[in-house]
Amino acid sequence: MAEYGIHHATSSGSNPSIFEVIGQENLVSALRSAFRHVFKILAENNPEKFGLLHKYFDEGYTVVDSVFQFIHLRLKGGLFPETFYGLKRIPDPRNPNVSKQKVMTWVFFAVVFPYVQSQMERLYKDIREEHSQGSFNYKDFKRRLALLYLKFYPLYNFMWEMVVLSYYVAFALKKTSFHSPLMHLTSSTLTHLTAFDLSDDAWKEYIPENQQKKLITTLWNCMNIFVGGVTLTISVGAFITQFIHWWYNRQSGVTSFAPLPIPPPPQKWSTDNGIDVCPLCKKKRTNDTALSSSGFVFCYPCIFHFVQDNQKCPVTGYKSSLNQLVKLYHSDEF
Ligand SMILES: [Zn+2]
Repeated sequence: MAEYGIHHATSSGSNPSIFEVIGQENLVSALRSAFRHVFKILAENNPEKFGLLHKYFDEGYTVVDSVFQFIHLRLKGGLFPETFYGLKRIPDPRNPNVSKQKVMTWVFFAVVFPYVQSQMERLYKDIREEHSQGSFNYKDFKRRLALLYLKFYPLYNFMWEMVVLSYYVAFALKKTSFHSPLMHLTSSTLTHLTAFDLSDDAWKEYIPENQQKKLITTLWNCMNIFVGGVTLTISVGAFITQFIHWWYNRQSGVTSFAPLPIPPPPQKWSTDNGIDVCPLCKKKRTNDTALSSSGFVFCYPCIFHFVQDNQKCPVTGYKSSLNQLVKLYHSDEF
């Protein structure tokens, strides 16, 4: 088995802080959300072309991300978010060689495991929604299974969150060098990149010597440029996004403090009738009914039919509905 972990093991970098560790983990979810959002917008604008991609976004992203992180781990010694925060991975000091299997295990825990967890969460939410809506039409065994899942998933989730939190606390207090249970499982820790890691030739340390032939060197070189390009795109992208966000807030801040346009003064409506005359039939009102959208009073049959046909007040023209008819009671009626 090719081994190319010389540089991994001979780290002279310092341990990262809890903030760097949490920062790089947040970057993982931020990137996924950002890409999901892009595909959502694409799917909304062009459902035929991107609808399917949006539907299977999680699966597609997991596959692409696995390949990308695999290459990244081999070239840079860390996952993309880790090196973005100036960190790299050190494997178990008792077995410092980074085999292909080791890299695949890392990718599994960093990309595939979170995908499985998100699908479990999604399944839980789906079952819970069906259960709460009463559209829970599973039969016997499947139903029992679904109910068990509904009962135990929150417990599992709570316990998992607690384990993750206790690792964070222990790591912050320097009681352990593993910042997460998954890193503990693979006996790997994070350390700061050294000046050598940042140099252009660093990747050669990670590739076994027998693979450093001309063609393969060119291939790895291309991938190195590609990985560098992605890093640069995301760094610049993050900056531009921040800038747009600031600009947008600034713009909307200006408009929100500007005075609102002054509405025209209300018209003076006149029905040119006596106080108890219906504006529609011009007769003495019967069965007084007010229209709450304008405040005018009519006979009940007159206004009922008018609003039903025209959906507006006959005097003011305000948009009105039959719900806005209010029966008026006079004191002498009691
Ligand atoms: Zn009338």
